[in-house]
Amino acid sequence: MQIGIAGAGFSGAVLARELAEAGHQVVVHETRDHVAGNCHTERDAETGIMIHRYGPHIFHTGDERVWRYVNRFGVLQPYRHRVISTVGGSTYSLPVNLLTINQLFGTSLTPAQAREFIGSQSDQTIDEPQNFEEQALKMMGRKLYEAFFYGYTCKQWGLEPTQIPASVLRRLPLRFSYEDSYFAHPYQAIPRDGYTALVEQILDHPGVEVRLGTPYTHADHDRFDHSIWTGPLDAWFGHRFGRLGYRTLDFEEIRATGDYQGCAVMNYGDIDVPYTRISEHKHFAPWEEHESTVCFREFSRLAGEDDIPYYPIRMAQDKTLLQQYLDAARREPRVTFLGRLGTYRYLDMDVTIADALHAADALTSAISAGRPLPALLQD
Ligand code: UDP
Repeated sequence: MQIGIAGAGFSGAVLARELAEAGHQVVVHETRDHVAGNCHTERDAETGIMIHRYGPHIFHTGDERVWRYVNRFGVLQPYRHRVISTVGGSTYSLPVNLLTINQLFGTSLTPAQAREFIGSQSDQTIDEPQNFEEQALKMMGRKLYEAFFYGYTCKQWGLEPTQIPASVLRRLPLRFSYEDSYFAHPYQAIPRDGYTALVEQILDHPGVEVRLGTPYTHADHDRFDHSIWTGPLDAWFGHRFGRLGYRTLDFEEIRATGDYQGCAVMNYGDIDVPYTRISEHKHFAPWEEHESTVCFREFSRLAGEDDIPYYPIRMAQDKTLLQQYLDAARREPRVTFLGRLGTYRYLDMDVTIADALHAADALTSAISAGRPLPALLQD
């Protein structure tokens, strides 16, 4: 088959590779002038530091298939992500762990004492948390919530935490030990040569042609037997029901010599600090040495029509709109929608890759059985 793919991020690249290995001819169109989507990395011309152009990306997974898959295409350097939060002029360890609790309350509690103490702080009257704030009050009580989550979340989402689903907080653990690894997955790493080199390797197959700086249009779609769309779901339909909401990020660069903040990511919990965090990119490659440093302050805001979409908002009005687009997607002939933008879900990189591998299995088996190809793999 001749297959057209819109987008050369992880979704498009993995699917292109798998379909080409199954013997199909694949053409990947990418609007930007580089592959790897928002994971794109490049070396800074002045310092040689590997910059995560669209914000930091740390690869973490518990999925053996995904881990084996990425290791085929590059060297993955073990990397343990830690985050510090500055609040009210003091610094604390994140995600909330025994050190954070003892720092904030000025105590030296043991794990069992801390568990009991946080239990006494938490709001036991909340059975089924209906939003982020209720989830936080039930999980950790008001003091921890107000210090680390209230201000940061207002800045990150532009909404009161009472308007945000409880599931957003459930991404983070609450630990009664001194374990301060941000992620709990067994495999945590960053590609030695950057994400862009890794994605280039995935796309490096004689059955795959990549066209950079070339948007994928409906006219292109007409020339292929099937299309894979990893761009924004609403954009495929010309935004006919309205626009799905996204948060976008603005970055303010800081250059200095030496070590600017002593860690890769410093979050800022105070609401009157306008940025959410500062990332210092040389700390994402602790195996390298650099005398100078490059950091980025990160500001979150609602994405306008011409902004790069980052986080799907998925609030009530987006969900109604999303349902209309998903129904339209199901009826759209010869197109499969995939990935963070194509399905309007907030996906970590490993889930994106797992979904693309699953899509490749579903598509190749449908092709060989002569069945129609699925438009959506899950709703
Ligand atoms: N969060 C917070 N304070 C922090 C870190 C995270 O309030 O210092 C909240 C914020 O709402 C964020 C959510 O917890 O969206 C999940 O955190 P995670 O680190 O997974 O954020 P993401 O990967 O979405 O940037």
